[in-house]
Amino acid sequence: MRVFVASLATETNTFSPIPTDRAAFEGAFYAPPGTHPETPTLCSAPLVAARRRARTDGFTLVEGTCAWAEPAGLVARDAYEGLRDEILGQIRAALPVDVVLFGLHGAMVAHGHDDCEGDLLARARAIAGPRAVIGIELDPHCHLTPAMVAAVDLLVTFKEVPHTDFAARADDLVDLALRTARGEIRPAVSVVDCRAIANFMTMRQPGRGLVDRIKAMEGRDGVLSVSVVHGFPAADVPEVGTKVVVVTDGRPEAGRALAARLAHEILDFGADRMPSMPDPEAAVAEARRIDGVGPVVLADRWDNPGGGVAGDSTFLVEELLRNPDLPAAAGALWDPVAVSFCRSAGPGITMPLRFGGKAAATSGRPIDATVTVTAVTDDLVVPFQESRVSLGPAAAVRIGSLDVVLASGRAQTFHPAVFTELGIDLAAKRVVVVKSASHFHAAFAPIARAVIFVNCGGPYPPDAAKIPYTRIRRPIQPLDPHPGLADFP
Ligand SMILES: [Zn+2]
Repeated sequence: MRVFVASLATETNTFSPIPTDRAAFEGAFYAPPGTHPETPTLCSAPLVAARRRARTDGFTLVEGTCAWAEPAGLVARDAYEGLRDEILGQIRAALPVDVVLFGLHGAMVAHGHDDCEGDLLARARAIAGPRAVIGIELDPHCHLTPAMVAAVDLLVTFKEVPHTDFAARADDLVDLALRTARGEIRPAVSVVDCRAIANFMTMRQPGRGLVDRIKAMEGRDGVLSVSVVHGFPAADVPEVGTKVVVVTDGRPEAGRALAARLAHEILDFGADRMPSMPDPEAAVAEARRIDGVGPVVLADRWDNPGGGVAGDSTFLVEELLRNPDLPAAAGALWDPVAVSFCRSAGPGITMPLRFGGKAAATSGRPIDATVTVTAVTDDLVVPFQESRVSLGPAAAVRIGSLDVVLASGRAQTFHPAVFTELGIDLAAKRVVVVKSASHFHAAFAPIARAVIFVNCGGPYPPDAAKIPYTRIRRPIQPLDPHPGLADFP
């Protein structure tokens, strides 16, 4: 058996001012054949999973290119097409192939391509042939499109938000694909379209219970896999929205019925699907009132670089500067210019510094302060589950009782190492501000007195009902009254 695996992934926020070019992939993660490390990045997990199975199962694994760009704005057409054609050429050279696996994000939008993954998969199908098993792993914050579904035999998404299970779901995908290629199962993919933008978190109810029930369904009654596509609201493309995917062993009607039942459950979540989110002033006041050990973590949910925005907004830093008695830390703010100034000055130097508040009107005002540089590094590397994430050259600066981490690379604050690698003791802080919507949670929760999600108003569009879509397929909730479930495609 011959198995090909590659990965091409980013999440495109079409409202973001930050362009995504070839250098954005090469700077974030670019591994041509044979160079992928043993640890997976988020979306390249199928390659690592396939390697492990190749050792035990004895098939021939052909590794293609894996590339990831930190989420940002529209992808340059030549960047997408160049990477696409690189991977398609690798499939052509690997023929004949029995299995083709892709680690995708599923929300890549390029100039001239609304549906990059649909385009890539249709072309891969044409090359690999109708009998090859094509399987994909997606981030649940994707746009599942008819072209994608038409081209594949298998699809699984991460189940957890935050995505703590990307490696486990890659194992699921590889296992199902091998069983399909051996003729042990005949997967049928059934999709129901919720006709809603209905994202939720799985670290809290009611999403937690739904995921636990879904997991218990797999492997029983012919159900091979169940995935919820939450959708990625920050993109003005037709297929934005929430969908439920059930893969059965040759039972598409039963799969569709189960998907419809789960879709109704998700629609019934109502306002509980997301936590309440105070503004910066109310959030800091609330943090002062909470007793206990360890810092209160304030998550700047709408300035999360993982959602394609800059991660340089200053609203929470301004609020902390209005509370100078409060021992606090904030990070990581994206500001390569300020980092370069700090690295030139070096640790121990006190100097005037302007930082943050640059990328967009929604970033707020830059901070002008006299800071002491407390630490610098050539490369701030932090863990996220099995992955290692680089924030590039970085610096820590102190203003009174506030420590701020500035980074040259855009990445969300996945882990306390963002602070501790630069010598900041979080146990001594009352408040820690992180730039992350949810992926911080697994690593910060064990040290946090409490977690508060903060609404700073943007730049990620905080209210789906108010996003200025022009191209989304209507009707869809919450822009319109709910039109009922729809078959898909
Ligand atoms: Zn995601």
